[in-house]
Amino acid sequence: MVGLVIVTHSATLADGVGELARGMGGEVPIELAGGIDAPEPALGTDATRVLEAIERADQGDGVLVLMDLGSAVLSAEMALDLLPPERREGVLLCEAPLVEGAVAAAVTAKLGASLAEVAAEARGSLAAKATHLGSAEAAAPAMATTGDGSRTLTLTVPNPLGLHARPAARFVQTAGGFDADITVTNLTAGRGPSSGRSLNAIATLGVRQGHEILVSASGPQAQEALAALEALAGRGFDDEAVEAPPTPAPAGPPVVPEGALAGLPAAPGTAVGAARHFKAVAPEIPTGPAADPEAEWERLGEARERVREEIRTTRDSVAARAGEYNAAIFDAHLLFLDDDALLGPARRAIFEQGRNAAQAWNEAAEAVAADYRGLDDEYLGARADDLTGVARQVVAQLVGGTTPAAALVEPGILLAADLTPADTASLDRELVRGIATAYGGPTSHSAILARSLGIPAAVGLGEPLLDVPEGTHLALDGDAGAVYVDPAADLVRTYEQRSAEREAEARRALASAQRPATTRDGTSIEVVANVGSPADVDAAVVNGAEGVGLLRTEFLFLERDSLPGEDEQYAAYAEIGQRLGGRPLILRTLDVGADKPLPYLPQRVEANPFLGVRGIRLGLAQPELLETQLRAALRAAADQPLKVMFPMVTMLAEFRAATAVLARAREQLDERGVRAGRIDVGVMVEVPATALAAHAFAPEVDFFSIGTNDLTQYTLAAERGNDAVAPLADALHPSVLRLIGMVAEAAEAEGKWVGVCGELASDPLAVPALVGLGVSELSVNPPAVPATKEAVRQVDSGAARALAGEALRLASADEVRALLAGEEASLAHQISTP
Ligand code: PEP
Ligand code: MG
Repeated sequence: MVGLVIVTHSATLADGVGELARGMGGEVPIELAGGIDAPEPALGTDATRVLEAIERADQGDGVLVLMDLGSAVLSAEMALDLLPPERREGVLLCEAPLVEGAVAAAVTAKLGASLAEVAAEARGSLAAKATHLGSAEAAAPAMATTGDGSRTLTLTVPNPLGLHARPAARFVQTAGGFDADITVTNLTAGRGPSSGRSLNAIATLGVRQGHEILVSASGPQAQEALAALEALAGRGFDDEAVEAPPTPAPAGPPVVPEGALAGLPAAPGTAVGAARHFKAVAPEIPTGPAADPEAEWERLGEARERVREEIRTTRDSVAARAGEYNAAIFDAHLLFLDDDALLGPARRAIFEQGRNAAQAWNEAAEAVAADYRGLDDEYLGARADDLTGVARQVVAQLVGGTTPAAALVEPGILLAADLTPADTASLDRELVRGIATAYGGPTSHSAILARSLGIPAAVGLGEPLLDVPEGTHLALDGDAGAVYVDPAADLVRTYEQRSAEREAEARRALASAQRPATTRDGTSIEVVANVGSPADVDAAVVNGAEGVGLLRTEFLFLERDSLPGEDEQYAAYAEIGQRLGGRPLILRTLDVGADKPLPYLPQRVEANPFLGVRGIRLGLAQPELLETQLRAALRAAADQPLKVMFPMVTMLAEFRAATAVLARAREQLDERGVRAGRIDVGVMVEVPATALAAHAFAPEVDFFSIGTNDLTQYTLAAERGNDAVAPLADALHPSVLRLIGMVAEAAEAEGKWVGVCGELASDPLAVPALVGLGVSELSVNPPAVPATKEAVRQVDSGAARALAGEALRLASADEVRALLAGEEASLAHQISTP
């Protein structure tokens, strides 16, 4: 192992650096040569002391000497001269910075690297700091020196929109979880390398679908980082639900309806009302120089912190109104706040050019936004607007204003040049009847948000929109993407009628969504919701969910750098219970593993992560993790109806081991005198082996919940999320249905109940087959609750059993679909024929 010698003028300094390096280097020989002894301990360096340190550090693999300054270098050179010539070759005096260099060298030496590799790592040790502080010039050459030790990975990006904000954010979050320097190069477009820790740097590489990127990593966790990024890419950068932008309309002049401003449809529906201009005045930016750069930098930090809070609040509100997926765009906004590509230039402008904080931040944001716009990509162009919106929030904080948001005080149609997602999220649905923008496209996140908030919207209507006088009567057509100024009376009547019909339909669906779901012959089916955060619960309740059938607790564990403790988990479960207002909750214990790694829970890289240590396998491998979660669940169960289920159970022994952990958790609470509630314990059926052995599980479990997403991938050997095999992974395949039937039969024999919490339950077509197979609980996405309940109400249990029996005899998912669709059509006919 390579040894290290620390040469400094001060013995105390040497001790401190030694302590830091030993903390990283473990058994790496690290010897100190700090200060002098003559006549008393004092500041200075001593060649003899350095020589002795070199001799102690030398284990035969070489010695790296790191020095502070001046005479330290001279003393080290003299010590080198004092060594016999044959030993000099194994000693390298290194110009690396003392503290960073010593730590990097210790980490690398511990891995058994050669003297040259240890020296290269020490020399490159300023890169992380330089990158963090935005000194790209300093970082680049340092990266070059570490080139030898770096590892690379080439990926082809499958996402329809390329590496846009959301997947780029997941990339940065994943890369940030490892102790590694990561760069990305767009090989196809010849752009980069750029920092893998900067959202803006990655997004502006212009990576489109099919582009090849080269990811390079160096540092102690380079290999783990690349494995995690490869897995992320394998999951489509966790971006399954993004739609590709619509194919542009054929070239030619747009057909302008007479008397209308023509744009693009962004959110369906029609609206009639008065024009209300959005008063999003950009805050005025002071131009005077700043006297105290340190104070300006601090002010910028504080403003960013306040905006972080603002964005988090917005995120929660969007999650509640439009679901987690739509809320995720605000994660990218949070990353903007800490992006090196903004912070670096802003810092330099403050410290080197004397700019005030607002000016410095604004200029940095404008420069990055210009990069986005220069990419000639409609989708990334929209990200420039998102970035400008976040920058405006920070500037507003700095100049003492509030972020312009509450634009409307009277009902009407909102007119704006463009809206940021934050603007859109802050809109009052009661006042905003429609949205019309002069710029922007249908793929902007504002448009996506408008769709999920149910506000009709037309975008890209052009500059004339902004000249429409305040209060002018308008009719907006979100389906056609047009706005009529001073519309004729009959058009207004038509539009009013259309929107009244839509509203009535929505009200009807929502009204009956609160009624229980009972089949035509009186069998009750519980329709509950799958939720991924406390905020999701509100949407579930509003849509008529009778409880939560699957709480994916991963939200508490992901995107952070340490495990949540028992109290934090308890608070989250209790909050969910409160939001549920007495409705039951089924908590699924942590389901992460090799395909969803937690950065702070290192795991071995696995060739087949879906067949590796995930779900309950991880929980049992790290029982203290499961124990903590179960203590929190037991505490929450003291005040609310709560059940627990374990994911990815394959063997009965695993279920027993998990219930033993639960018993231990209860004992621990008893010992502490803390109240714990009663808990039913279920098993998720996600592995075919568990379904096939359901008869063995049934006497011991309180219930079964079938996770058809995983059960389908394991039954049909078709990885979920892999486009290439997606057609195979159809949960309506007779083999999957047969497994569901086996579980229901085994459960019934023991008087236990069975639910389905996979996506299959959210497909109204599948409802009769599931009920016919004996399923009595359906846990679905919150927006799917009303339609699922409606589907249950059409079912006749006897007919459903016969239908399920018929489906099991078929050979393919397509045949099952055809059978169910035919049945649905004939049912619709029966209902409509008196
Ligand atoms: C499933 O596998 O069907 C399931 C509900 O769990 P998840 O989708 O969270 O893996
Ligand atoms: Mg699953």
